[in-house]
Amino acid sequence: MDDKKMTGSGFFVAEDGTQWLSDPEERFGFRANWKINRFLHRERSDFQDVAVVETEGFGKTLVLDEIVQTTETDGFIYNEMITHIPLVTHPSPREVCIIGGGDCGAAREAVKYPSVKRVDLVEIDRKVVEVSRKYLPEVAGVGELDPRIHLHYEDGTAFIRERESLYDVVVVDSSDPVGPAAVLFELPFYRDVHRALKTDGLMVCQSESPIFHPEVLSRVHQTLRQLFPVVRTYLATVPTYPGGVWSFTLASKTYDPLREGSGRLQTTGNRYVDADVLEGSFRLPVYVKKLLG
Ligand code: SAM
Repeated sequence: MDDKKMTGSGFFVAEDGTQWLSDPEERFGFRANWKINRFLHRERSDFQDVAVVETEGFGKTLVLDEIVQTTETDGFIYNEMITHIPLVTHPSPREVCIIGGGDCGAAREAVKYPSVKRVDLVEIDRKVVEVSRKYLPEVAGVGELDPRIHLHYEDGTAFIRERESLYDVVVVDSSDPVGPAAVLFELPFYRDVHRALKTDGLMVCQSESPIFHPEVLSRVHQTLRQLFPVVRTYLATVPTYPGGVWSFTLASKTYDPLREGSGRLQTTGNRYVDADVLEGSFRLPVYVKKLLG
């Protein structure tokens, strides 16, 4: 490991020689630390520091710019939640676009829906896809990708800007709003997504922790309300994300997840989402309701 810091943020070696990853973000004097057994991969891509480490508690873990993205232990929670909820809300999703999502977990969930004919996965960083498929089959899947999944290595903002009335569902599976992902949380991008959706299309994005990033969730929700008549936030518990409670925001031109029900939910192989979770995830605690106004 290059970084020989004894403490602090990012990868570091402790005085006893053990290796750690400390979340670069500190909020409320809180910082998560992961003990690392070994590095499986580390390189600087054109966009970010890309690492796959084996953590002691959560197994193999994808880390971008020293921020945990997904782990073999709890990656399924995030990937099922960001994919099944929008796909079950749309009565017949055929064309799906995933922006980001280079770990391939969301794409893998999307093709569980027989109505889905095509998934465009638009990931800015080819390296993320390569290392996820090599080291994280628990998240990315084993063997060849489903032929309905089409990989595009480019900036999601440029890709979506050039599309019009094409998609039933757009999933914004982005990293945190820093670096190349910052624009994926802004109004101009959401406008382009709105245009890229069919007249009854819908989108979903990860909208960060309501505890640690309330301003992000609140802003995303308010911004999407300027564009879409239906905006719903839902929650899941993802232990490796700051605060554990994670939010997703769905914005729809027509269909409302609270009305569509769970009849079309695909549950084969699911480890988190079933009809109960789908319904319960929209029941928000009081502090989140207040945050959303
Ligand atoms: N589950 C993760 C989480 O919430 O932390 C995020 C999954 S995924 C690994 C996020 C991906 O978005 C990264 O691989 C990153 O390279 C990609 N990304 C960031 N900005 C992007 C952009 N502007 N266009 C396309 N992909 C982008």
